[in-house]
Amino acid sequence: MGTPRETRAEQAEEIVSRLEEAYPDSTISLRYTNRLELLIAVILSAQCTDERVNTETEHLFEKYDGPEAYANVPEEELAEDLNSITYYNSKAGYITESCQQILEDHDGEVPDTMEELTELPGVGRKTANVVLQHGHDVVEGIVVDTHVQRLSRRLGLTEEERPEKIEQELMEIVPEGYWQQFTHLCIDHGRAICAARSAECDECVLADICPSEKGDSEVDLASGDPW
Ligand code: SF4
Repeated sequence: MGTPRETRAEQAEEIVSRLEEAYPDSTISLRYTNRLELLIAVILSAQCTDERVNTETEHLFEKYDGPEAYANVPEEELAEDLNSITYYNSKAGYITESCQQILEDHDGEVPDTMEELTELPGVGRKTANVVLQHGHDVVEGIVVDTHVQRLSRRLGLTEEERPEKIEQELMEIVPEGYWQQFTHLCIDHGRAICAARSAECDECVLADICPSEKGDSEVDLASGDPW
């Protein structure tokens, strides 16, 4: 078991600094060219890999060029265009309704506040945070996806389980200037080394400060179960 830094804030700073060195080009992996495409890509990415979303949006963004196009197409046709994406029927509904709302209430523009974004169908705090950060350069919080959730718990930054609670705790310990990058670093490290089922602690740059490190710890703090 690694020995975490004395306080959670120190632990967070050390993690950010080491992961930054390991993943200097870490950034969002969804492809988009404007705010609406970003919003749609993030809605589609729930429970689905970014890779699959990128493949599907390549033709989607060619066919639909603005909120009117999504708002006016029959929902079944849009669903058919998304059929390799998980939960494509519900997501087609969210996209159509969000675009209708964007046209009716926001002059066709993707809103730029947490409150207005989370009023759109299918848009929770996580999606809104991504759109604010990458679409509007507004950093109001920390995006907590499955990688951030798992790594934060494994690394002893939080004992909370729900993303909203984890976000609150992280916002108290991660330096504000790193709120956006923290997510991308966790995603890169989660994909490369600290995967859900196969953490490769032997190759991890955080092993000596990680309380879940397999060499000594019998427990994966993310799940609370034995390794
Ligand atoms: S790979 Fe192992 S040592 Fe590294 S962060 Fe994950 S659990 Fe900790």
